[in-house]
Amino acid sequence: MADDRDAAVEVLAARAAEADAADPLAHLRDQFDLDEEVVYLDGNSLGALPTSVPGRLREVVEQEWGRGLIRSWRGAGWWDAPERVGDRIAPLVGAAPGQIVVGDSTSVNVFRLTVAGLRAAAERDPRRTELLVDETTFPTDGYLARSAAQLTGAPLVPCHPSDLSRRLGDRTGLVLLNHVDYRTGELWDLPTLTAAARDAGALTLWDLSHSAGALPVGLDQAGVDLAVGCGYKYLNGGPGAPAFCYVRADLQERLDQPLTGWCSHADPFGMEPDYRAASGATRFRTGTPEILSLLSLDAALDVWAGVDLTEVRRKSLALTGFFVSCLDVLAPAGSFRLLTPRADERRGSQVALECDDARAVMAALEAQGVIGDHRPPNVCRFGFAPLYTRFVDALTAADALSTRLRARDGVGPA
Ligand SMILES: *Cc1c(COP(=O)(O)O)cnc(C)c1O
Repeated sequence: MADDRDAAVEVLAARAAEADAADPLAHLRDQFDLDEEVVYLDGNSLGALPTSVPGRLREVVEQEWGRGLIRSWRGAGWWDAPERVGDRIAPLVGAAPGQIVVGDSTSVNVFRLTVAGLRAAAERDPRRTELLVDETTFPTDGYLARSAAQLTGAPLVPCHPSDLSRRLGDRTGLVLLNHVDYRTGELWDLPTLTAAARDAGALTLWDLSHSAGALPVGLDQAGVDLAVGCGYKYLNGGPGAPAFCYVRADLQERLDQPLTGWCSHADPFGMEPDYRAASGATRFRTGTPEILSLLSLDAALDVWAGVDLTEVRRKSLALTGFFVSCLDVLAPAGSFRLLTPRADERRGSQVALECDDARAVMAALEAQGVIGDHRPPNVCRFGFAPLYTRFVDALTAADALSTRLRARDGVGPA
């Protein structure tokens, strides 16, 4: 048995080495500050540190803040950074310039655009008041959808993404969906669901937290109305980096966002007593931008120069597919249940599985330097960031996990 297993690991190791050697994105790993002792498969929760960030942040703090002081709002381009960084994210999500602004958390942006979207839908057609919300959503989106619904008087309709076309009706105003399910890693068909909502007369708001930077999104091409996404997952902006907010160009002037802070005013330094909304993406700002974390995200985006998202997607699918095939070979039969779809077109960039004692299993892996995460009750999540994860990492993690599952089930040494 042990010999068979060793032979199987050897075959998989040869496959991993071959795939890493042929990987056109392999050189990008050098642009990240990674610990060679650690297999990091949690970039879907907190992206790794790009080597471009520490020096740039030091310069921002010591020069721009320390020496430049308040002059840096203009002199160092701080004031326009939310729109400028938004335009750098735009090509990663298939958006033309002028439609993305960066600031606040994903949570705040979900609230902002849910209220704005509900108001716009009802203004277009007063019967369209309902808010359809992905019932599998990451909790913060669900909590905020409830507050937004309460504030606007919108009836809230929970809806599974696979059931969307049946739930859409002539009362639907806005549909709030996740592009990739944070638990299972399932990728939903954004173009098809967006078209279904549009054909039914509703607006769409997509949460791209688990897709931006992991796969091509194609917002403009799909005709998405509104979207939000996270700055610190696959975009590697650092802990608490600000989120981004996308509003399709032709909708911007019609949208009445609820967080009307002075930075979204048409003349912020005019200090007028009454509010007048700015035009363009600036309309979706609120207060003073979080310059340190925003410029950390800005520097982190340097790693994308010349990167082809088609290659990113190809590698991501190959990595997750390889990880699953390693588990198929190495883990005891029936020791886990795969939650992530095996079909490529339905898989994001993570693999999730359910097993007994998931929390203890993931803690044991972490103690060995294999970092993924655990979601209650019994889900193990492994995120594959295509810019810096190697095939050998996928094998190391699958081998460690399989060994742990065998030990737990009493079929081998821990
Ligand atoms: C990670 C994530 C968030 C994060 O929200 P924060 O406001 O940054 O805490 C929101 N929504 C989804 C779907 C996520 O995956």
